[in-house]
Amino acid sequence: MRLRYDLHIHSCLSPCGDDVLTPAFVAGSAKLCGLDVAALTDHNSAKNCPAFFKAAEFYGLSPLGGLELSTVEGVHVLCLFDELEKIMEFDRFVSERLIKMENDPAFFGNQLVCDEEDEVLGEEKYLLSGDTDIAFNDVREIVLSYGGVALPAHIDRKVNGAVEIFGTVPAEAGFKVYEMRDRGSKEDYLQYMCADPLVIYNSDAHQAESIGCAGGAATVDDALVSELGAASALLRYIAESSK
Ligand SMILES: [Zn+2]
Ligand SMILES: [Zn+2]
Repeated sequence: MRLRYDLHIHSCLSPCGDDVLTPAFVAGSAKLCGLDVAALTDHNSAKNCPAFFKAAEFYGLSPLGGLELSTVEGVHVLCLFDELEKIMEFDRFVSERLIKMENDPAFFGNQLVCDEEDEVLGEEKYLLSGDTDIAFNDVREIVLSYGGVALPAHIDRKVNGAVEIFGTVPAEAGFKVYEMRDRGSKEDYLQYMCADPLVIYNSDAHQAESIGCAGGAATVDDALVSELGAASALLRYIAESSK
């Protein structure tokens, strides 16, 4: 089965994410775009994932969740999970490892935690777009131990991309799945990847109009989709490729 996905979407919890992007808005927009699977991945926090999962159920969207981790080197790594319990356990771990600096909403933007009906439950105190003290080379194993899958985010981006910061994607980090934004530059970036990599294309949406714009799609075994549902089947497919 061909599954259309966008696995890197920010909400109003990310300081740089538009305030209109409540978790319910993201779930509804993803469904309207015709996506089968969408993931909510805010900077260093998954605190809007509970509302996103509830809203996804309401809209009939198959959800993944997680966060976009900033490593100590300032490289972004996408961390994806299919079970809310595991997501929130990993969220607690990342919260402890975030380098703490109070957010200035007027300068960086709001960091809103919402419920599934767009009610603002609170605001995250510490700036989420900063770095954690977690090393890039350790992320893959840590996320695996929490039951998720990690992949270097937007390696073709100048800001916070592994290639720009390290000059490559360090092989020691063990990644076999990579995220890119522009499929046109895949050939140029193959030199930085392992042999036979899986490349996925996500929007990294910070505004409503970007959701689903990267056109990501994957062919996943029909039986697996029937057994696990679209989101878990897609995550399994990515996890298998990352071994
Ligand atoms: Zn990023
Ligand atoms: Zn992002």
